[in-house]
Formats: sequence, C-alpha cells, structure tokens
Amino acid sequence: MDISTQDLVKKYNFKFTKSLGQNFLIDDSVLVDIVSGAEIGPDDLVIEIGPGVGTLTRELLKKAKKVVAIELDSELIPILTNELGDNPNFRLVHEDALKVDFNKIIGEEKSVKLVANLPYYVTTPIIARLLNEGYNFKSLTIMIQKEVAERINAEPNCKEYGALSILVQYFCDTKIIRKVSPQSFIPRPKVDSIVIRLDKLDKPKAELKDKELFFSIVRNSFNMRRKTLWNALKSFGLSKEDLEEVFLKAGIDQKRRGETLSIEEFGELANSLYIVKNRG
Ligand code: SAM
Repeated sequence: MDISTQDLVKKYNFKFTKSLGQNFLIDDSVLVDIVSGAEIGPDDLVIEIGPGVGTLTRELLKKAKKVVAIELDSELIPILTNELGDNPNFRLVHEDALKVDFNKIIGEEKSVKLVANLPYYVTTPIIARLLNEGYNFKSLTIMIQKEVAERINAEPNCKEYGALSILVQYFCDTKIIRKVSPQSFIPRPKVDSIVIRLDKLDKPKAELKDKELFFSIVRNSFNMRRKTLWNALKSFGLSKEDLEEVFLKAGIDQKRRGETLSIEEFGELANSLYIVKNRG
C-alpha cells in the first residue's frame, strides 16, 4: 500500500503555506478519476504542476512514460526527492510554473499531457500561459475551483459565458470529469472543485487575421455585461459608417450583446474590423 498524504505530512512534519494554494488530495477516488480522465498511457510525458507531497505524482508514474513535476515550494523539494527520487521516470523541477521554460521540458516528446491539482490563486494566469504560448500539449487535465470550471465550460447566452470561456474554447474542447468536495483535501478549501479536461484542437476554433484584435474585442465586449456590441466596438477608432460596414460584412446585428456570440461569430467580427481598419 502506498503511503497516504496524511502520513507523509506527519512523517515530514510539513507545514502548509496558505498563500501557495496548498490543499492536498486525500481521496483515492479522486486520484483514480484524474488519472483515468487524463487517459495517460505508456507513451506519454506527463507534466505535473504543483506535486505537493507527491500523492497524485505517484499514481501518474504508474501509467506514464515519464513525469516531470514542477514545484515552487522549497520545503517540498527534499520530501519529493526522498519519496520519489529513486524512480527513473521521475524528474523534479524546482521552479515557478508561471516562469518555467516548458519547451525545454517538452523537448522532442510527441505526446505530452499536463495534469495538475492547480493552486487556485494562480489558476487563470497558468491556464492563459499554457494556451497562449502555444506549447505542444495534447491535453490539460486540471482540478480547479468549481466556478472557474463552469466559466471555462460555458456556452453563449448563459451567465458564466465570458472572456475565459472564449480563451479556452478557442484552443480546446472541454470536458468535465467530476466534481470534488472540500472533504477530499487537507486542509479543506472553502470552495467546491471540478476536474476538467481541455483537449487541444488541431487548429483553433476560428481563423483569425489578428489574434490580438480578436481577444481585445472579446475583452471589451464582456467588460460591461449589458453593453451592446456597437458600444463595445466604438473604442476601436472607426467612423460610424465604417463601423456599420464592419457589422454588415460580419453578418452580425449591431444591437446584439457579446454574451450571445459564438467564438466563430466573434472571429467574423474581428476579421471584418481588421479589413475595414486596414484598407488603404
Ligand atoms: N498535487 C498535490 C495534491 O493534489 O495533493 C498538491 C496540490 S496543491 C492544490 C498545489 C501545489 O502547487 C502545492 O504543492 C504548491 O506548493 C504548488 N504551487 C503553488 N504555486 C506554484 C507555482 N507558481 N508553481 C509551481 N507550483 C506551485
């Protein structure tokens, strides 16, 4: 039998650091569901962010070709080295997941899957980095706060739909694996969690002339929930006639609100704004 999270915490007299989002898993059924939900196989390089005392890492090592774990907390480095260091398929990287060079870790590996019980204080910046910087991940299976997972997974016209839904769904298909309650962790977090898998698409959901412009239109459209698209696009410096043409070209009614638009429709709008703005 593997040593439990509680026994590891006791063995090393580990003191939790709240500011590092340290809530460690103690529920075997969640470990099993994360590993099976991530569909890890013998050809996979798994990158784990925030291994803690290595409870999930140990399960990943049973299935993967190799596991590289990135941990920021210096207190955990000797524990992980002592518990898992003998495993030839394990590598520990003592770094910040917001700064580490993922391309160096990935190298020539073809099948790379990210798995993490993410520290909740940096969930969104980590996801944004992993997607925007175009790394060669096949999928990201992550445990995050329930409300964030619901925003990521939301469809147009529901209240959770927003810039985060579009950022993730532009790059990935999303699949909720399971809900996890606070009792599954020590210490217990105040919120419910969800394990969600993000499968990277072969190509993003919209073909864009200018990705920055697309995301800046998306952000603008959700800044003020009740704003019409017309008002959201006014700040892009076009005349009334040009802006009318943008909507006409995109085939989108200017009275619509951002929360009703699909990613493809935002793409149409961004591409026609680009054309009208940049014509000679
Ligand atoms: N994987 C373990 C588990 O499931 O029990 C621990 C998960 S705990 C929610 C988050 C882990 O991420 C902690 O070990 C914490 O020290 C680590 N961490 C926090 N911020 C980090 C960062 N910026 N980069 C890498 N690891 C970080």
